[in-house]
Amino acid sequence: MPPFANTAMDGYAVRSEDVASANDAPVRLRVIDTVLAGAPASKPVGVSEAARIMTGAPMPPGADAVVMVERTERVGDDHVDVMVAVDPGQHVRGVGEDIEPGDVVVEAGSVLTPPRVGVLAEIGLRVVAAYPRPRVGVLSTGDELVADGGPLGPGQIRDSNRPALLAAVRASGFDPVDLGVVRDDRQAIADAIGRGVEDCDALLTSGGVSMGDVDLVKVVLGELADMRWMQIAIRPAKPFAFGVAERDSARVPIFGLPGNPVSSLVSFELLARPALRRMAGFSVFDRVRMRAVAAEPFTRRPDGKTHFARVRAELGDDGVYRVRSAGGQGSHQLSAMAAANALAVLPDGDGVGPGDRVDVLLLD
Ligand code: AMP
Ligand code: MG
Repeated sequence: MPPFANTAMDGYAVRSEDVASANDAPVRLRVIDTVLAGAPASKPVGVSEAARIMTGAPMPPGADAVVMVERTERVGDDHVDVMVAVDPGQHVRGVGEDIEPGDVVVEAGSVLTPPRVGVLAEIGLRVVAAYPRPRVGVLSTGDELVADGGPLGPGQIRDSNRPALLAAVRASGFDPVDLGVVRDDRQAIADAIGRGVEDCDALLTSGGVSMGDVDLVKVVLGELADMRWMQIAIRPAKPFAFGVAERDSARVPIFGLPGNPVSSLVSFELLARPALRRMAGFSVFDRVRMRAVAAEPFTRRPDGKTHFARVRAELGDDGVYRVRSAGGQGSHQLSAMAAANALAVLPDGDGVGPGDRVDVLLLD
């Protein structure tokens, strides 16, 4: 690419030596042809001749440069005055200037970004081998959940995890599959997970993996799948269950995320998303992690855990990212997660003061 030499400008294809003196006085050339994009240039350009030419049209034989039309003046039907000298090759896009035979244009394992799709189309490669997007099922569990937008009865709340996780799945480049809401009932949970395993490459559940009497997701996972249940030394999102179910020869990972809305999204970010990205063939699994400066204190107590604070990171004129709390840091306070664009990583200890360095994971 380009496959043939063509003009980058609308103008006149000329022999550069003919117009070498045009900066001193206009040079009159005879116009012998008009060359449009999409058709070959048939007539060669000879001494003191020019061809009218449009962007993308092939250079006619004999011409070695193009004068942009703005630097010319047409004289009748057959002549043009050229007001400017051009160097050989000027405004000409040469054969192979972009891509030569044998060049690698997209490395194996790359994401098919829009420009890569374009470059593959440019070289006529219409079919490429790619990883399928994992189909990721999302299931909410809990007797308290209302999913249909109806009125809330006493003790009820709306199911926010499923819409949020479905959106997170889509935003991460996977295909979301809505597995609905199930009650805190062993059989109902087992049935829903079973359906998900049949239909999906991976599952996300939320709720029911903690220490409550009806935290049955972990119980069901323990029966259905090769399961590990753990308390992770992070905050939010301490409880986590991970199981692998078998479907024929496929192995379907199941991420049992905690129910608290912030916890479910943070554990998706830290635990599920990297694994799903790996499954999807990405070579980079994690969010961009960068060093920022605390614009205000982030206090915490030593508890053996790494804390992930929901923050807004803003780039200052000095090129430094500064972070402020995005709001209440409780694991039920989804509004701060919604306002955040990053998670600040607060290692075990007393936190950081204003001006201290703090690592952040950029969420967008
Ligand atoms: P659990 O882990 O099931 O004990 O849930 C922990 C907390 O998260 C409880 O306050 C639940 O009401 C809440 N929760 C669980 N699932 C959801 C959900 N899908 N949407 C909103 N909140 C939820
Ligand atoms: Mg629950």
